[in-house]
Amino acid sequence: MIKVVFIVFVLLITGCAYQETKEKDTPIIIIEEEAPAVINEYEKVKEERPPFCGDGICNGKETWQRCYIDCEGVPGEDEDIISRENVTIVYNKEFGKWLAEDYLQDSLTCIKFLKKELGIDLPNSTKSEFIYYLVLVGDDENTFSGATSSGVTTFLNMEAYKRRVDNEGYFKEKIYEEQVCLNLHEMTHVFVSDTIIPGWANEGIATYIDEQERRAIGIECRSDGWYGSDFGDPQIKRVHDYSDLSKAPENPRIYWYYTGYCFWKYIEETYGKNKIRVILNELKDIGEDESINFLRDIVNKAVGEDITSITKNRFKVS
Ligand SMILES: [Zn+2]
Repeated sequence: MIKVVFIVFVLLITGCAYQETKEKDTPIIIIEEEAPAVINEYEKVKEERPPFCGDGICNGKETWQRCYIDCEGVPGEDEDIISRENVTIVYNKEFGKWLAEDYLQDSLTCIKFLKKELGIDLPNSTKSEFIYYLVLVGDDENTFSGATSSGVTTFLNMEAYKRRVDNEGYFKEKIYEEQVCLNLHEMTHVFVSDTIIPGWANEGIATYIDEQERRAIGIECRSDGWYGSDFGDPQIKRVHDYSDLSKAPENPRIYWYYTGYCFWKYIEETYGKNKIRVILNELKDIGEDESINFLRDIVNKAVGEDITSITKNRFKVS
């Protein structure tokens, strides 16, 4: 049984949060929010199957929170499955097969792109089979995505699905003609899901990669905080204090993501973009040895000096 890795992340396809997170070249709104089920678990990057998991037998179609992973790669009666190369999509039949094909193609594009961009490979658990679940949820439930050590799960309600149908022309163009990776955020989480990366650095790198390639978040990282719009109010721009990364994120959670982003931005601006790849490679080499401290043992080594006075001062982590 593959270990469940609940990394926190969420990709809402619509909603009212994080309106400032607009795509660089399109009006389509893609929004980030934390998965409520794992909000207090943010510091545990890796987690054994929680006690509420099923018995390992795929009796009914359990939801993610109820150990959906027990049904790994096994389509239920209401689901179908398509595969190409190492990617398998398990999807609810209420969604058209075209949606599964979109996710399949996008996942393949993302994997190739991120291998190059991050300079690391997928975890062993997903190298041979990367599973993407497209799960239908009720309209009273949120639409969001999460990464696990076996791939990604997206929970879509019908309302969000219909919006996707309405915007399918845009997605087809991006996926098949331009062949850009649309799902950078979650896919980045999967690439580091077999490492000891802290939650804040994990959200930070996913936000950083997404910002680099797809979504302008419109903030500047400064020594005394990040400069940008207030949550939900693009009119006001000011310097915001950095979040305390030693603690769980508070609302609005996106500030915590921005602060993690600014850590990676600091690395890029101070030591060059390639150092990010060096750090990620060090992380991969260490694997899951939790006695290792991310900043002191990995980052300091990669950049060749002690940066913990900076990280302690700005982000409250060392
Ligand atoms: Zn995330």
